[in-house]
Amino acid sequence: MKVLSDTIQLHSKGEGDIIDMTMQLSNIVKESKIINGTLTIFVSGSTAAVTTIEYEPGLVHDFPEMLSRIVPKDIEYEHDNTWHDGNGHSHVRSSLIGPSITIPIIRGKLTLGVWQQVVFLEMDTRSRNRTVILQMIGE
Ligand code: ZN
Repeated sequence: MKVLSDTIQLHSKGEGDIIDMTMQLSNIVKESKIINGTLTIFVSGSTAAVTTIEYEPGLVHDFPEMLSRIVPKDIEYEHDNTWHDGNGHSHVRSSLIGPSITIPIIRGKLTLGVWQQVVFLEMDTRSRNRTVILQMIGE
C-alpha cells in the first residue's frame, strides 16, 4: 500500500472563477502508478471549494448563478459585521459546496464520467493564490 501526497498551485481570478483540474489530476494519477485506490482532492482555505461538473460554457455560467440565488451577496452577514472583509457570502458558499472530494482509482485511472470534470471554485471576492492538496492511497 502506497500513500503519495502532492499539490497543485492555482492562481484564481476571483469570485466565480472555475478552474478545470482534470488533466493535471489524471497525469498525477498516471505517474503514481497506483492501479487500485483513491485520490482525495482538498483545497486549503475557507472561501474556495472543489466539486465536479460538466465543464462547458453553459454550466460554467449556471453554477455561479445558482450560488448567487441560494447564497445572495446583498444580504447581511454577521461575518462581515465582525471582520469587515465583505466576504461572508464567500465563506457560506464555500461551506455549502465543501472543500474536498474523493475519487476511486480503478485500473490506474480516475473513475470520472466522460462529461465529468473536477473543478476548483473560487468564491472569495478577490484574486487568490491557492494550494490544492492531493493524496493518493492504493497499490
Ligand atoms: Zn472573511
